Amino acid sequence: MDFSEYINREIKCGCGRIHKCYIKDIIIKDNAVKEIERIIDDNGYKNIFIVADTNTWKAAGVQTLKAIESAMRETDGRKSIKVTKYIFKDRELIPDEKSIGTLIINVPEGCDFVIAVGSGTINDMCKLISGRINADYCIVATAPSMDGFASNVSPLIINHLKTTIETKIPDYIIGDIEILRNAPKHMIAAGAGDIIGKYVCLTDWKLANLVNKEYYCREMEDLVRKSVETVVSTIRPYIGSDNNDFLRNKKTVEGIMEGLVLSGIAMSYVGNSRPASGSEHHLSHYWEMMFLFEGRKMVPHGTKVAIGTLKTIKLYEKLRRRKPDFNQARENIHFDKKKWEKEMKRVYREAADKVIELENTCKKNSDEEVGRRLDILDKNWGRAEKIMDTLPASDYIEDILKAMGAPYKAKHVGVEKEVLKDSIKYAKELRNRYGLLQILFDIGMYK
Ligand SMILES: [Zn+2]
Ligand SMILES: [Zn+2]
Repeated sequence: MDFSEYINREIKCGCGRIHKCYIKDIIIKDNAVKEIERIIDDNGYKNIFIVADTNTWKAAGVQTLKAIESAMRETDGRKSIKVTKYIFKDRELIPDEKSIGTLIINVPEGCDFVIAVGSGTINDMCKLISGRINADYCIVATAPSMDGFASNVSPLIINHLKTTIETKIPDYIIGDIEILRNAPKHMIAAGAGDIIGKYVCLTDWKLANLVNKEYYCREMEDLVRKSVETVVSTIRPYIGSDNNDFLRNKKTVEGIMEGLVLSGIAMSYVGNSRPASGSEHHLSHYWEMMFLFEGRKMVPHGTKVAIGTLKTIKLYEKLRRRKPDFNQARENIHFDKKKWEKEMKRVYREAADKVIELENTCKKNSDEEVGRRLDILDKNWGRAEKIMDTLPASDYIEDILKAMGAPYKAKHVGVEKEVLKDSIKYAKELRNRYGLLQILFDIGMYK
């Protein structure tokens, strides 16, 4: 895929905004990691900070270092480039204040280039710190496992709360096919899962536009759909097959990586994660927080998103089968704030105050707001149904996940029934972002 039509230019869009995404280069191909030598030469970087964890170092750290060394010249016995590396030893690396603080302590003074070797967490943290120290930033992807490579946001854990923070966009994205296809298969499936979630978040987004007049852009929707198609087209031929070895095919890995980068570009264009994160992500974030509270082993982001996607599509199907009784819903409007706050303290524990604060500011659950939204949705139900028509059937999503050998039910990753029920009710409290979960609350399907 030629990314040059998407990066380093401004698009004056029909939506009234100017979309821009300044990534200097995206290199997804065989031996991509060797390009680091040229990148260093072109920019004259002198003080490089490499970040990895023990696994990602094994996967691509040594090759990255070799590429840097190829760019080094020696004059008067002194090497032209100073290289500092930090390798996280944590068994479960959490992108929280502690890990970010560790990076700040270890980043060398005057650092002009940060190279992250990893995906998910390491990329999320390095995007943030490279921006804060005003250094250029390159991500060497070790697994095509999530869509944050090209985005300008990082989901971090701040004060125990899953929080999305705006960051700089990487200057370089390196997707070396040989490295990527050697990633664990479940990580490759997780990347595809993160993209499959876009079916739901696009639906949520369009409904938010319908009901709340929230900003929406058709071009961005098309871009995200292209990202989904790039990924799904590599999996579709294998639906029904009994092994998932295809996940390591060069074409599959390349398609998934390209789809992930495209989705990140869409987020950067819009300036936030709206085009790429909806109810399916809220469920995933909620489960992640619950696992963190209990010190449980983490499940890859995209794996949870995939499960959240299947669940939310099933809920969308249920919503349509039942067809909401809007008159009844209006009669039942009553937000018991005291009871709700008690519930927030029960489920969100140390993070409850922040969640309650959000509701106090945006008042999305207030009787007036719920009533207003119900009236609009009632009046526009036909249009809402047309939007929901674009969702694929839940069976189809299940088939895709099964073909990849990926978990597709919450219980497959250890999310118990009670937690699942709570998440459908309360994951929406993490953000003020209208979508399926808020609709279910508004019409009283899950209260
Ligand atoms: Zn636009
Ligand atoms: Zn995601």
